[in-house]
Amino acid sequence: MAKRVFNFTAGPSTIPLPVMQRIQEELLDFKGIGASVIEISHRTPEFEAVLFETIDLVKELLSLPPNYKVLFAAGGGVMQMALVPMNLIALKPARKALFVDSGIFSGRAVQEAAKFGTSIVVASGKDSGFGTIPEIDAASLDPEASYLHIVTNNTVHATQWHEFPKTNGLPLVGDSTSDIMSRKMDVSQFGLIFAGFQKNLGTVGLSLVIVRDDLLGHAVKETPKWMDIKVLSETDSMPSTTNTFALYVCNLVLHWLKEQGGVETMEAQNRKKSQCIYDVIDKSDFYIGHANPAQRSMMNVTFNLATPELEQKFVSEAEAQGLYALKGHRELAGVRASLYNAMPVEGAQALATFMEEYERRNG
Ligand SMILES: *Cc1c(COP(=O)(O)O)cnc(C)c1O
Repeated sequence: MAKRVFNFTAGPSTIPLPVMQRIQEELLDFKGIGASVIEISHRTPEFEAVLFETIDLVKELLSLPPNYKVLFAAGGGVMQMALVPMNLIALKPARKALFVDSGIFSGRAVQEAAKFGTSIVVASGKDSGFGTIPEIDAASLDPEASYLHIVTNNTVHATQWHEFPKTNGLPLVGDSTSDIMSRKMDVSQFGLIFAGFQKNLGTVGLSLVIVRDDLLGHAVKETPKWMDIKVLSETDSMPSTTNTFALYVCNLVLHWLKEQGGVETMEAQNRKKSQCIYDVIDKSDFYIGHANPAQRSMMNVTFNLATPELEQKFVSEAEAQGLYALKGHRELAGVRASLYNAMPVEGAQALATFMEEYERRNG
């Protein structure tokens, strides 16, 4: 069998091995057609079955209330930072969008929304180096604003909202690109959730958009049809040819997830995976964690060592032992271990063991 490492990359990220094997097995001949899933029309019954089954799996796995639509939009998470204001900023005439600034991906969303109206940062974690997600007071939110945007898991600074904020009636928008399906989530607290596929939903090219149905039909008139959520909803997310390969991989990933026991099982495993690494950080002065312990992420773990040399040596020695892609984001340097659903518990445990051993040799 091919050599497979424990792959801690932040994204595009590791995909469950059984899914990769299934893709390999049926790549040349999908469902006995004698052609690949990427060589057939998106309008064939075979492909439409993939599409509708994927929608049903999302509904089931996230226990979606009936008034929520499941859409697949073109592009990754960043593209949806434009889709959201195009569709929601005109909900109210003031065209204001509110943001909690919790790091890099909040900042990008602020910039995109400002192209369609006014972006207002209501709280920022900047003073803490984004190690902390700031609190907000729902009563102080501007009632003329159209929505409040948060990033449910901050992939770079490794913080995560464990309890979502109250919004005093404003629709809450969640960028869940790096933690969708990783834990139970009460979708009814949100007006819209988006998540690029590349972290927990398979491969690049599409994003999942979950939206409450009363929010459809408010797009600014310049909105391209591929970015208008009402058009996506009316065309089963295929106003023209969709990214068939990305949807197919997502379908297999969600089947795998369901077989594992669903989101609840993922959450228990993700807690275990992150905790075994946090335990090493917490009992050591050698590893310096970045995030506020009360808000630490189960998906991305970051830490620094005393010198850049010790960090580089850590990353290269880990890689030699099959622990791949641990180099931190340029913003924090150090080490980042991404523990998305497809990372097995054994991978996180192997990293924790390596950390203890590396500390003994270098501490
Ligand atoms: C990765 C990520 C994105 C960006 O996704 P792209 O596929 O690069 O557009 C957006 N938001 C969050 C929270 C992410 O982790």
